[in-house]
Amino acid sequence: MMSRSKIPFQNTYARLPENFYGRANPAQVASPRLIRFNEGLAKELNIVPGDDIAEIFSGNRLADGSEPLAMAYAGHQFATFVPSLGDGRANLLGEVNGKDIHLKGSGRTPFSRRGDGKAALGPVLREYILSEAMYALGVPTTRALAAVITGEKVMREEIMPGAVFTRVASSHIRVGTFQYFAARQDNDSVRILADYVIDRHYPEAKETSKKYKSMLQGIVDRQAKLIAKWMDFGFIHGVINTDNTAISGETIDYGPCAFMEQYHPATVFSSIDRNGRYAYQNQPAIMIWNLSRLAECLLPLLQEEEGSEQGALDAAYEVLNSFQTTFEKAHVNGLRNKLGLATEHAEDLDLAADLLLRMAANQADFTLTFRRLADVLEKHEDYPAASLFRDPSAFTEWSQRWQTRIAQENRTIEDRIASMRAASPIYIPRNHLVQEVIDAAVQRDDFTPFERLLEVTSQPFEERERLEHYAVPAKPEERVLQTFC
Ligand code: AMP
Ligand code: MG
Ligand code: MG
Repeated sequence: MMSRSKIPFQNTYARLPENFYGRANPAQVASPRLIRFNEGLAKELNIVPGDDIAEIFSGNRLADGSEPLAMAYAGHQFATFVPSLGDGRANLLGEVNGKDIHLKGSGRTPFSRRGDGKAALGPVLREYILSEAMYALGVPTTRALAAVITGEKVMREEIMPGAVFTRVASSHIRVGTFQYFAARQDNDSVRILADYVIDRHYPEAKETSKKYKSMLQGIVDRQAKLIAKWMDFGFIHGVINTDNTAISGETIDYGPCAFMEQYHPATVFSSIDRNGRYAYQNQPAIMIWNLSRLAECLLPLLQEEEGSEQGALDAAYEVLNSFQTTFEKAHVNGLRNKLGLATEHAEDLDLAADLLLRMAANQADFTLTFRRLADVLEKHEDYPAASLFRDPSAFTEWSQRWQTRIAQENRTIEDRIASMRAASPIYIPRNHLVQEVIDAAVQRDDFTPFERLLEVTSQPFEERERLEHYAVPAKPEERVLQTFC
């Protein structure tokens, strides 16, 4: 007999007013085939999988207790405001253990506009790998629960196999969700949404006398720390539109994202980012811009708390201004960990910036350079890192300055090396490795490279034998310099 999956759904978002979403069932697909199911995550969520997981996570069968809907949201896309976006190819099935279970690529909804509501296999595999790798790196992120091939074709630049991705998120509420209501001057809905967000993500705000200001502060803090983590790992999101900025502080909507190889602050991969708006170095400033759009939506609520329009503006500026301080502190601490520094000196940022400048001038690989610093200490020679620089003396000069700084600290070398290796991964899902996975899956229906890369990047900090292929940068002919969504 077929065993049915047990998924303890709640539907708190579905209890919000009707204008927050459109009811939408996932589409039926031809012949769902499971590619991967994240057993560990399912267990954490108290989901008991049955024989029907391909049916359920393709959208062919509705699990008991699910009330599917497509969320309404707006958003600034590359700084242009679009008042109605919404889930055009996704369904929120409900929440489990307080987390959203969301199908992506599951058919048309009331928000589809001209889109087909589908997802192609390539981007589904990319999001699966990237989100799980970020989780393993300790970066707040949505997770991957399942990937299913639909047995249907979708039209993109070329014809691709169709797929459905199941995403787990603390929630899918975005800056753009607030913008959707604010743009309609619907302050009642802004308030309902803010109260829901406070209950779900920022309950501590209720203990304060100004809960909306406190919520905004919480969101700003989490985003500042999130962006610092992205910067620590050389991650470039690619499309930090306000509809791709989660209120929970998680990384969301992995589209044309990538980890940088050769370090350069102006690096961009996304094919749609023609002006470099979302370049690596712009990410903190862009997040301040996005959070400013959020603060604008909250001004009427802040005005009630502060008693005047000016008071609301002052409160918003005070909170927004704290982003830079929180970000810098987290970012410098991240760099200190990478350099193996346990104490704080005023010149540490300058020391790190000096290394980064030299890396940029010498096309050094971001991930490996930081990783090999521990080997430099262990082997008492510069070679492991210096060899990554076009001109190795650029590293050697810096290394002397670094060693002088290290010598001022009282710490065992073993301790220092262990903490450095916990801060700088050896395995990240490099672009060409992700491309290899997609090519094998799309062209040969071979998911072995996918499984391998997932496995390797699930332990990013622990160097293992015979995994050289996953540790080294792309050869010039393998380089993938553009990514597509
Ligand atoms: P994204 O670029 O994935 O962040 O999506 C931006 C907006 O376009 C969202 O409202 C999506 O739901 C919508 N969208 C993206 N792809 C499709 C598609 N194939 N069909 C319908 N809507 C889509
Ligand atoms: Mg999006
Ligand atoms: Mg997307």
